Amino acid sequence: MEAGASHLFLGRVRDLSVRWYIWEELRSPAPKVAWHHMVWFSGRIPKHTIIVWMAILNRLPTRVRLLRMGLAIESDSCLFCGNKAETRDHLFFECHFAKDLWSSILDLCCIPRVACSWEGELAWASLLLKGNSLIVKILKLAWTGHVYSVWKERNSRLFGNRARSKEELLGDIKEAIQLLLGGKSFNTAGSSNIALSAKWGIA
Ligand SMILES: [Zn+2]
Repeated sequence: MEAGASHLFLGRVRDLSVRWYIWEELRSPAPKVAWHHMVWFSGRIPKHTIIVWMAILNRLPTRVRLLRMGLAIESDSCLFCGNKAETRDHLFFECHFAKDLWSSILDLCCIPRVACSWEGELAWASLLLKGNSLIVKILKLAWTGHVYSVWKERNSRLFGNRARSKEELLGDIKEAIQLLLGGKSFNTAGSSNIALSAKWGIA
């Protein structure tokens, strides 16, 4: 509870207007964070965005975080490259495995840029992925799908399952986007949407 709201509970709540005032005091809406629309957007895939949300808050149990929490794990090495510590920042956009996957996604959107860092990619997405255009819809799903897929693949390798390739992960991301956006009339409204839809298989 907000320290400034505690005095409201000293007496009995007598009428609706007081209760409404208390509710307004308690809910104290926090200012929206810049990445809000990258987690809570219409048409999101909840199992993807919950992982994104945890990643943004740096709450995913990466090996470096587990060691810091005192867990006895044998190594803090990245499960993809094996030569860097597995931090959130390394895992999602700095490691060559994730960087290549994200580059393939950007290629499919004809965006000529190279992934830089977690902070950089989050800032880029938060700043630019706004509005209702087809490319924004695709990129928001792809950005969240990328983070989810990398984390899922990391967990899979941790538990000794077959290592899947970057192409297989990209296939999963495309399939999820096809299920959500495939066949919509909006996809063929204009030449740029037609070209984009063809690349993503959602025409
Ligand atoms: Zn790595």
